[in-house]
Amino acid sequence: MAMTSTPVPGADPASAHFFHSLDEGRLDLLVCRQCGTAHLAISVCDVCGSIDFSSEPASGIGIIYSFTRVHIAHHPAFADQLPFCGGIVELAEGPRLFAPLLGEEPISVGAPAIFEWQQADGRGFAAFRVSAAASQ
Ligand SMILES: [Zn+2]
Repeated sequence: MAMTSTPVPGADPASAHFFHSLDEGRLDLLVCRQCGTAHLAISVCDVCGSIDFSSEPASGIGIIYSFTRVHIAHHPAFADQLPFCGGIVELAEGPRLFAPLLGEEPISVGAPAIFEWQQADGRGFAAFRVSAAASQ
């Protein structure tokens, strides 16, 4: 039986830096040298219009901005992982990205999330480890 490859987005000029850093086991940001805004994938700073960036490692610390629990596999590669959670993580530096969420449920908006590098089919990707919400 043939293995089903995990679908991975292709890089474009704006996201090449982002995907390259993940393939090397890091999550790097593009920080605008003019205004200091951190970006994940960009060619022109959407704050000041600069095209001058430095590459800096992200802290890997963020919070859950939004999330969903997936119960239906829309690609066969994910069929044996159901149900799983994915969500938008807002990094401490500001950028937001969609990523798989790992850890115990319940997950809640605002919960801390820590970058955890993952690999599938030779490509690196970002996942985030979430702590279960403390009961109060
Ligand atoms: Zn800028």
